[in-house]
Amino acid sequence: MDLKAPAHIANYIAGALQVPVNGRYIPNIDPATGEHYSHTPDSDADDVEAAVAAAKAAFPAWSTTPVEERFRILNRIAELIDANLDALALAETNDNGKPLWLSKRVDIPRASSNFRFFATGIMHFSTESHNMEDKAINYTLRQPVGIVGCISPWNLPLYLFTWKIAPALAAGNCVVSKPSEVTPMTAYLLSHICIEAGLPAGVLNILHGTGPGCGAAIVAHPAIKAISFTGSTRAGRDIAATAAPMFKKISLELGGKNPNIIFADCDWEKMMRTTLQSSFSNQGQICLCGSRILVEESIYEKFKEDFIARARKLTVGDPLDDHSRQGAVVSKLHYDKVLSCIELARQEGGKILLGGNPVKLEGRCANGLFIEPTIIEGLWAQCRTNMEEIFGPVVTLQPFKTEAEALELANTSDYGLSATIWTQDVSRANRVAAKVQSGIIWVNCWLLRDLRTPFGGFKNSGVGREGGWDALRFFTEPKNVCIEL
Ligand code: NAD
Repeated sequence: MDLKAPAHIANYIAGALQVPVNGRYIPNIDPATGEHYSHTPDSDADDVEAAVAAAKAAFPAWSTTPVEERFRILNRIAELIDANLDALALAETNDNGKPLWLSKRVDIPRASSNFRFFATGIMHFSTESHNMEDKAINYTLRQPVGIVGCISPWNLPLYLFTWKIAPALAAGNCVVSKPSEVTPMTAYLLSHICIEAGLPAGVLNILHGTGPGCGAAIVAHPAIKAISFTGSTRAGRDIAATAAPMFKKISLELGGKNPNIIFADCDWEKMMRTTLQSSFSNQGQICLCGSRILVEESIYEKFKEDFIARARKLTVGDPLDDHSRQGAVVSKLHYDKVLSCIELARQEGGKILLGGNPVKLEGRCANGLFIEPTIIEGLWAQCRTNMEEIFGPVVTLQPFKTEAEALELANTSDYGLSATIWTQDVSRANRVAAKVQSGIIWVNCWLLRDLRTPFGGFKNSGVGREGGWDALRFFTEPKNVCIEL
């Protein structure tokens, strides 16, 4: 296969690459260079209608296709993703601005893992039975929901897109999906891979377009019975408002403002290395980044000094250069938002310890959207900077005296996605883990992922869980059969 970014991206509907019905396109821009390098369909309800018709036609055959055959096709997709790693990684970096080494090491390998994981997972998915002694036996069928909608964001484009469509397809559903309009390229290239892998026409449909224009039409379509969404809390709220009166199943993976709780007895070197990653990986544009760093008072000054010294060394540069640790942020809109959040932090009385400014590069990236890794201290726990998601290379530091105070600070958030705890005291680690109001807790590590575990958040970070059996249960309807003996 020769996967290349085209001048015009196409929708993938009924097994074929198609232009949008309205003929409209939106620009696709490389944030590292500012170059308008391709066009994305500005699809709307007409394209959604066509995709739903294709999915309906495909559903009877796909939902009854033996799991061994579903496994074979989905596993073939995983193999083709691996075989095209370089082309997909380059497309991801050009769309998103993230360093190419990161796309190669994390984003694309994880996309093939998602397919491989759920391809094999469906072979092991079993159902429950409940025996009523000598009276009756119940068994539970788990049948595909039907046509499902999968909508994903721009920060880990192919990684999060495949995290939804792989379990949906493995469970026997037909899918109408939409990647972010900001980073559509790898999902488009995946269309070619699906055709090559022999995925039957209409089983997966990939539409491109905006949230209000295309995403909202997917959510509102009455034939689409479940919506799996990852993105902002704001969009999640709109989706829930549309889907709830239609009694659709929803899974919402939303924003975060995650605490990184550092106790004085931590393994210093490991904590420092990992905290640098959990603060600034992917320019801080990972929903799991620890954007609020809470540090025990006795080590606060030492931490501050060492953290600033290490963050200062993170090279902001051309994403295609292997030496760049930080690439561009994803779009002009987002760049302006992150800079305005830094300005707000200043107005709120925050002291900028490091960064706080745009970075101007020369040459190929002279018009790119780069921001310095930024560290802020001196802010009140409930100020906007500490309460609202920034989703950029910006962290705040707050000292705490006691475990109780650390917990209070950690839980002073409307979000509850993830938290990281650094301590060598196993009892304290367990106590704090049980009390932090987050769906995902890492102790002495960060972003260590086992795809079988439940993934999702408390509070404004979402509804439902992805991963492992949780994902396969979401994409199936349980039906209990009771037989009197
Ligand atoms: P976004 O909500 O703007 O967009 C996400 C996707 O939803 C895009 O495809 C967009 O086109 C679509 N969309 C937007 N409005 C919609 C609507 N009303 N109806 C249907 N679809 C709509 O989010 P984003 O800016 O692309 O991504 C960043 C956000 O995603 C951050 O808040 C981040 O925390 C969150 N995120 C969460 C997780 C998680 O697992 N919890 C993972 C990654 C990102």
